[in-house]
Amino acid sequence: MTIFSKRKCSLDTYKMEADYGVDPLWCSKCGYNLDIDDFPLSDELKSELMN
Ligand SMILES: [Zn+2]
Repeated sequence: MTIFSKRKCSLDTYKMEADYGVDPLWCSKCGYNLDIDDFPLSDELKSELMN
């Protein structure tokens, strides 16, 4: 069991791609836009990603 088990998508791999208005994390398989708040990232790293 992983922290991602609640999602439809298996999230084997994901990519970071900056885009306006959405979080910059995407599943590289199905293109699902991931909620960055669901990732176990530090607030510092999150704000870096959002910049
Ligand atoms: Zn996916």
